[in-house]
Amino acid sequence: MMSLRLPSIDGVLRHPACGPLLERHGRESLLTGLRQLLDELRPGVLNGQLSAVEISPEVLAGRVSERLAQQQRSHVRRVFNLTGTVLHTNLGRALLPDEAIDAVQMAARYPLNLEFDLASGKRGDRDDLIEGLIRELTGAEAVTVVNNNAAAVLLALNSLGARKEGIISRGELIEIGGAFRIPDIMARAGVRLHEVGTTNRTHARDYEAALNPRSGLIMRVHASNYSIEGFTARVPTAELAELAHRHGLPLLEDLGSGSLLDLTRWGLPAEPTVRQALLDGADIITFSGDKLLGGPQAGLIVGRKELIAKIKKNPLKRALRVDKLTLAALEAVLGLYRDPDRLAERLPSLRLLTRPQADIFAQALRLQPLMAERLGEIWQVSAVEALGMIGSGSQPVARLPSAALCCRPQVSKRLRGRCLLNLEAALRALPIPVLGRIDDDALWLDLRQLDDEPAWLAQLPQLQVDP
Ligand SMILES: *Cc1c(COP(=O)(O)O)cnc(C)c1O
Repeated sequence: MMSLRLPSIDGVLRHPACGPLLERHGRESLLTGLRQLLDELRPGVLNGQLSAVEISPEVLAGRVSERLAQQQRSHVRRVFNLTGTVLHTNLGRALLPDEAIDAVQMAARYPLNLEFDLASGKRGDRDDLIEGLIRELTGAEAVTVVNNNAAAVLLALNSLGARKEGIISRGELIEIGGAFRIPDIMARAGVRLHEVGTTNRTHARDYEAALNPRSGLIMRVHASNYSIEGFTARVPTAELAELAHRHGLPLLEDLGSGSLLDLTRWGLPAEPTVRQALLDGADIITFSGDKLLGGPQAGLIVGRKELIAKIKKNPLKRALRVDKLTLAALEAVLGLYRDPDRLAERLPSLRLLTRPQADIFAQALRLQPLMAERLGEIWQVSAVEALGMIGSGSQPVARLPSAALCCRPQVSKRLRGRCLLNLEAALRALPIPVLGRIDDDALWLDLRQLDDEPAWLAQLPQLQVDP
């Protein structure tokens, strides 16, 4: 057998196909890519597994071109979220309105008055940029903003309860998204957990009995991602606040999503509003910026002026502070709340959450024949009613009436699982990956969030499903 030799790096570089590659990627990247490729091929050449064609400069140039293009492709990618979960934590939660996107662009492109008071010409505080708006929208005395709600809870607990006991109901010791667990956050905040009551029932007398000279605060956590039904008891916030104040303690409430407006006016399930929690007497309230609020990732801490002042003095505040892009987006989103009548048109998350089922169903009927044709005989594609979710722990048991393309493989039970995984993988491999969910032996594409139908249709011909 004739022994083959790999071309040298220079040999490949001299090939005309490398000219444009050099131009596009630069010499360093091209050389690294070539070196890696040749190293990988060497064993195959030595044991005679590769043909002369497979290691010709032309083929090698093509392969290195693919490799460099692959490396250059961004890892942060747009996807279609057709999972049925609107505020999907793994898919980036809320989508920003144009007003916020413009504000982010401005803040990214130019210097700005992030911590500079233009009126006095003196140093300013970044929280001041949004304080007035949040006070107006919630009725709070004061405000501070950090990176996310988990940070807000950590900071508030540490500032107000370090080395003291935090009293909390056993029914509120929740875990969110795997890594955020109230008992762990409390421990890291230096607050000793004093749990009271039981999982399903906690009474005012349970809190009362727990009070002692080491008590530092009472905490209440919105159960967010689970619900307790049946034989339950929970002390209303107003009563708990009264109890806390009678003993000189602050009441902290982690609202999770924390809506600014009553969502029932749009036919959505009721969520506690920040304003109501403050009216009920909670002293400090924490909530997320990118859940029901519909803004950027952020954690808002609102409440009594002297407590907020204490929180802002904590050195941890500096470690958890938000950046200028977030503040710019947050101000723009909050601004939209001043006109609640038009909010559902202008705020994407609310627009999607309130999209009428009839609308979504009409879209499903429109797309069904196209998807059916693309998938071919093996698949039965139907336009069906479906139930979606708000997501991000808001109203875990509430369902949003929606509509979906339901793709069911017409194969034996044994092959069904494999078929579904193949379709799922093929949808993920599209230029804009399409994410649905597998349930009940079918793949569901919930269309509530299919805003950009033209882009979805444009890539449909590229869908290649392995049989
Ligand atoms: C979502 C949630 C958090 C965490 O908020 P992030 O903004 O994701 O950090 C904390 N507490 C409750 C009750 C939540 O629902």
